[in-house]
This record gives sequence, C-alpha cells and structure tokens, in this order.
Amino acid sequence: MNLDPKRSWAVPAPAATTLPVAGTALVFPVRRIYCVGRNYVDHIREMGADEKEPPFFFQKPTDAIVHSGASIPFPSATSDFQYEVELVLAIGLEGANLPIDDAERHIYGFAVGVDLTRRDVQIAARKSGRPWEIGKSFDHSAPCGDLIRLIDRPLPKSGRIELKVNGQVKQGADLGQMIWKSDEIVSKLSEQYRLLPGDLIYTGTPAGIGPLMRGDRIDATIAGLSSLSFRIRD
Ligand code: MN
Repeated sequence: MNLDPKRSWAVPAPAATTLPVAGTALVFPVRRIYCVGRNYVDHIREMGADEKEPPFFFQKPTDAIVHSGASIPFPSATSDFQYEVELVLAIGLEGANLPIDDAERHIYGFAVGVDLTRRDVQIAARKSGRPWEIGKSFDHSAPCGDLIRLIDRPLPKSGRIELKVNGQVKQGADLGQMIWKSDEIVSKLSEQYRLLPGDLIYTGTPAGIGPLMRGDRIDATIAGLSSLSFRIRD
C-alpha cells in the first residue's frame, strides 16, 4: 500500500493479512481468497446438489484469514456453523488464461485450510436464489495453516485430507478425489480473474461436513505435511 508523501491516513490503515511460510522467516502477503464450490462428488451428494454441474468459484474477504493456534468467536447470524477442510493453493506468479500444463508454475505453495460456513444461511440463500455471500464471507471464516513451498515439497495430488473435532475424525478423504485438480482450478480461475501473487484458492471440501459448537477444538491436516488447529471460544 503506497501513500502519497503529501497525504496522511484519514483513519487507521488496515493491517496486512499474511500467512507464515513453513521453515522460513518469510510471510506470504494475502491478496484475495478464492474458493471452489462442489469439488468432491461425495460432498455434492451430501448437500443434495447436482453432481453433473461443474464446480464454481466464490470469494471470502482477505481479512477473514485465521492463523493456526487462534481462538475465534462463534459467528453472529447462524445457528448451524460448520467446518469444511480444504487444500489451499497459494499463487506466486501473475497470470491470466493459463493453460493447464502451465498452471502449476504459478503456484508458490500449499496449506490446509477450513472454509467456515453459516450453513443455515447458505441454504436459505440458495433456496431463495440469493447470493451465498452471507453464508460464506464473514469475519474469521478462513482459517489457514502455514504455507509449504513447492520448492520444498511437491504439490500433493493424492494423500489424506482430514479434519478432527475434539479429537474425533469428522472428515477423511483423499486429495485424488478432487473433481477439478489443482492445475485445472488455477487454469479455470485464471479465465475469470487475472491471478496475482498473494492470491489463495480454497479447493473444495470432501464429505463429512457438520456443526461446530462453542469450546470445540478443530485439527486439520493434509498429506501428512501441513496442519492447522484452532478453537471456537466459549
Ligand atoms: Mn468449501
């Protein structure tokens, strides 16, 4: 954020949103948070949606990021607050209209994230033909673990993705079940938006979604590499 030296901030400037980069002293500056809807067949079935429809994109606000180790409040405006564990991709190189075989070069790293959802509000919006925004885009709705760089580890294309609530496994699947793979996601998204360094992409959740309560502890892992833990405040 550049400021003309002849001017001053009118109100306090918002803090930058960042993610730690694992094994380094680096932080990744978060620009936009894109999310994929309906990217695992078993989750489409549990949501009662049409599995022949292709996946699609929506966004969350950048400052919805929550770091591992945090405690977050139970959100307002819902009585069915739910978890969705997801592989998160981090973009490191600008690009638009990327062919699938060029897409992976634009990925800086990956992490495990949770797409927190006001499920009751999302379903009510879906039924009435309104945008999903209030169900998906809210404060503290994007917990994300530390980023693992592709120069340190290859991008996981299979391997377990898992979420536990209070030590009990609630979601467990294999990344190989994703309908759109990571390179396809980056390619398709880049047809709709110019991707820039700092963009994150939550790639969709497998089956097993369910509710969270005050006091719950959530632990999410991906491919045995990346982990994320957070709590819902009492
Ligand atoms: Mn999701």
